[in-house]
Amino acid sequence: MPQPNATLEDLEIILHEQEGCPICHYGRQSGRKYLDGVMYESVNDFGLRQRLIKNMGFCEFHSQEMLTFPGAKLGAAIIEQAMLKEALRRMEATSPGRNSFFSRGSKSEPSHSTPDRNTCPACLHEQASERRAIEELLAHWDDDWVGLLEKSGGMCFNHFVLALYLAPKATAKTLKQMHERQWRELIVQLDEFIRKQDYRFRHEAISEEEGVASRRTIAILTGEPRSVIQTKLVT
Ligand SMILES: [Zn+2]
Ligand SMILES: [Zn+2]
Repeated sequence: MPQPNATLEDLEIILHEQEGCPICHYGRQSGRKYLDGVMYESVNDFGLRQRLIKNMGFCEFHSQEMLTFPGAKLGAAIIEQAMLKEALRRMEATSPGRNSFFSRGSKSEPSHSTPDRNTCPACLHEQASERRAIEELLAHWDDDWVGLLEKSGGMCFNHFVLALYLAPKATAKTLKQMHERQWRELIVQLDEFIRKQDYRFRHEAISEEEGVASRRTIAILTGEPRSVIQTKLVT
């Protein structure tokens, strides 16, 4: 399998080493690498600081992940202090009273919310990387990639939909067939798991696949779970 670029090399390693949606895994690693760069090189970068201030820092996950880099405590302290100063500035800029932090016309939604996946710079970096990974995968689509993707259990629903949107017709057809087959298999495994909970069939052993079918389904529907324990960085 020729490897013309780093994205494909990383994807191939992920597909060999990890189960589940390779695009999710690639995005997580890419986000972690981005944070690593921020911690060590860009902590005092004016443009990034302004962007972070505008969005009030990183999302909950990436803020926690910042603390997992060895030696990055100083960078985290510098960033978080700047964010807390911004929170204080916003607080002081509003007049006292219940309505000051609330959007006009809204009864419950704060107008200055902390970042989520749509505003966190690291999440946005992840999403751009995930799209790039799908584009590279599709541009180099062949039987080897089909085999690797099939073995990993395929993509999560959101990445599958994006891949389908970006894929040429023939590739889209293969993608669709693969995921349809896998999801149908999963439905059968869940059926079996549910059936074996009945007292009449409890003597039947639950297979390993049936035992993890719920977890796999959740990963397909919501994306691979995020873990701050990940230590590997993409190149
Ligand atoms: Zn995914
Ligand atoms: Zn984030």
